[in-house]
Amino acid sequence: MNPVFSSIKGRLLLLFLSVFFIVLAGLGFFLYSELEEIVIGSIDNHLHSEVQLIAGLLEAEEGFELELTEAAVGDYALPLSGHYYQVILSDGRIIARSPSLSIPDARLPVIEGIHFEPLYTMATGPRGEPLRLLVQSFRLPDGMVVTVESAESLEDAYELLRLFRNALLVVFPAVFMVSGLGVLFITMWSLRPLERFSKKIGTITERNLNERIEEPQSSELQGLAKSFNTMLSRLEESFERQKRFFSDASHELRTPTAVIKSVCDVTLSRKRTSTEYEDALLKIKHSAERLSGLIARLLEVSRLESKVSALRLEELDLHTLTEDVIKLLEPSATASNITLHLEGKTLKVRADRERLAEALKNIVENAIKYNRPGGRVDIGVERRGNGAIITVRDTGIGIPRNRLEHIFERFYRVEDVRGTGGTGLGLSIAKTIVEAHQGRIEVESSPGEGSTFRIVLPLT
Ligand code: ADP
Repeated sequence: MNPVFSSIKGRLLLLFLSVFFIVLAGLGFFLYSELEEIVIGSIDNHLHSEVQLIAGLLEAEEGFELELTEAAVGDYALPLSGHYYQVILSDGRIIARSPSLSIPDARLPVIEGIHFEPLYTMATGPRGEPLRLLVQSFRLPDGMVVTVESAESLEDAYELLRLFRNALLVVFPAVFMVSGLGVLFITMWSLRPLERFSKKIGTITERNLNERIEEPQSSELQGLAKSFNTMLSRLEESFERQKRFFSDASHELRTPTAVIKSVCDVTLSRKRTSTEYEDALLKIKHSAERLSGLIARLLEVSRLESKVSALRLEELDLHTLTEDVIKLLEPSATASNITLHLEGKTLKVRADRERLAEALKNIVENAIKYNRPGGRVDIGVERRGNGAIITVRDTGIGIPRNRLEHIFERFYRVEDVRGTGGTGLGLSIAKTIVEAHQGRIEVESSPGEGSTFRIVLPLT
């Protein structure tokens, strides 16, 4: 398509011009034919009364030599005036003519046949002018049949129609052009905010995501601007989150790396005993383990970010899944002298087995990690209303009330637990997974007594 007409402006203009052209052309055609009908109709009326007048006079007259004086007035009396009549007998003889025809060889064309019904037709007059002709036959009281022809020149009518046609040909294109320009102006004016939008949008990059589009008052574009600004806010937020994540991640990765480097530097600065080397290697091993744990979690986060929508949902039993997680964590619980208890029975849900196990594992791991020696972790699987609930209750250190709202943030760790070797990612991963299942995680905690985490999943 022509690039001009692929724009909104162009298309609106094209649509308007085509519709307007069809309407104007139709209107012009209609008006012209109406006027033609009126003009010819009035001539026909006039011819009809003239013929009736002549017929009336003929019925009153005696003999053939007629003096139709009453009909021979006005234009009918002026030679070749364009207003004519003639009376013809059935044998073709013309017995009377209007004075306007009283010039040698001036006559109306004789229409053959007897026409008791009025017959209107077109003909050519004595001057070669176009004529409207009415022919009608009458039976006189003495039984004789006469045909009366009356004609009127169409020159004036044609002139009038020509003037009207010319006026239409001037006025309509002018109206067409003026309206087209009007439409073009209105569309350009209405679309101006859109152009401003697109200019502004073109200048937005990751560096000025905080800028917003001006929202026009009372216009359809206000909604568009609002939605776009909301989208910008979301983009900005997510961009900020990503930036924070990268800086937090690099910060977290730097700590164990720096430990490894400094242990190496210190150890290599002079000859060491084998115990000192062993000690250094153990420190390096510990940092390397922390690094690998962190990297595994970071990979999990990025995997979740990119594939959260691609959950592999299947029908599974929550009780069995919880049992599997407990089995996996039993050794570390035993090592910390913590007992794990599971209550509840079979409860079917649709979920991604691997992911949900990961979320639950993170929560139970915390319940073990932040517990006191000899503590317990009670895990329950139950159905409540339309939801399936997994409750993880521990007897650990608890979480201060003002920290509760932060524990699901990435890299967030309550200050008191800094020494326990966590990454601050476990709960944020768990939350993302559960929310991808349309569920939520609830938490209650009493510092010094313990915490309760609940994974709530919809059953349908
Ligand atoms: P981490 O790797 O540090 O455990 P998480 O995201 O799993 O990271 O947890 C975030 C923080 O929430 C933890 O550092 C800890 O301070 C607190 N926390 C989580 N679970 C518990 C719990 N059961 N008891 C006490 N504190 C907890």
